[in-house]
Amino acid sequence: MPSIAGDWSSDTIVLDIHATGGAAYTVRQACAKVSPVSTTPSRPYIGRFAPSPSGPLHAGSLVAALASYLDARANAGAWLIRIEDIDEGRAVPGAADTILAQLDWLGMHSDGEIVWQSRRKGLYQAARERLADHVYGCGCNRREIADSRLGVGPDGAAIYPGTCRHGLAPGREARSLRLRVPAQGEDVVRFTDRFAGPVEQRLALESGDFVLKRADGYWAYQLAVVVDDAAQGVTDVVRGADLLDSTPRQIYLQRLLGAPTPRYLHVPVVRNANGEKLSKQTGALAVEPGSEEAAVAALRQSAGFLGLRLDPAADIGSLAAFWQQAVPAWAKLLAERGASLADFASAARPVAGPVAD
Ligand SMILES: [Zn+2]
Repeated sequence: MPSIAGDWSSDTIVLDIHATGGAAYTVRQACAKVSPVSTTPSRPYIGRFAPSPSGPLHAGSLVAALASYLDARANAGAWLIRIEDIDEGRAVPGAADTILAQLDWLGMHSDGEIVWQSRRKGLYQAARERLADHVYGCGCNRREIADSRLGVGPDGAAIYPGTCRHGLAPGREARSLRLRVPAQGEDVVRFTDRFAGPVEQRLALESGDFVLKRADGYWAYQLAVVVDDAAQGVTDVVRGADLLDSTPRQIYLQRLLGAPTPRYLHVPVVRNANGEKLSKQTGALAVEPGSEEAAVAALRQSAGFLGLRLDPAADIGSLAAFWQQAVPAWAKLLAERGASLADFASAARPVAGPVAD
């Protein structure tokens, strides 16, 4: 897995992405103002939180959940929960139920039926059929792609050299399905992130033709997320900045499928005291459902990370009181003209300890 070190405090975001094998990749973006959304009555706000059930919610994933929930509430929108268990090999039994229990405990309830990717394979197959000629079978294994020495893309995956683009070599069988990206010069995808500002990626150069169906038979994350966001009418994606570099591929897929492109807001990723992104592997502690007091404490810690300014004089002893404070505080944060990225992230700091007892 690549590590992403972000400097969120200057007026330029520099993401140094170090992939396995030592290659480094840098994305530079001009700082933009954090912008509020402007929704049109014809397309009311629908947001979502889409955890992978590889473990319980931890301090890092709670920040993403909180930001997406606050943004939906501040925009009088709907908020949906989707369990991204498409990679059934990585799904930990019981983890999805734990996540749902944790969200319930924290007072974050889905406004619609909870969707499970593992039950939606027909939709992904239908999308693959719509993509028709843009998809081809690839017989390469990981080693062969790495050996091509094109380097790695922003997400740490080796850039595919296009070996099977014009057909499989004699005697080779397709292992995976890939999506053809446009040729260099026509491959630039641009979008404006509500946090990161203008983002640009050259798909041919920085990704190459990417996998839609993996060699192990599972649909790739990139396809599933695009199909589901479109099927659920999602207008706003609020998630962690580790997914910023996946967004151009997702936008390209949306265009090919004729799906609308949502607005995006990628919030900083929570790190531990060693600067590592929190995950089950880096020792993040689970948020254990418990008392209401513990729930409020966990939410306040995440709110502090996001730079939310809650009224220090207010008595926030209950979940109801927290949400009553936090929703307008988020709206205020986004609406403040002149609020720079530095202001937004000024309270961002490593979270080292447990979130709740
Ligand atoms: Zn190939």
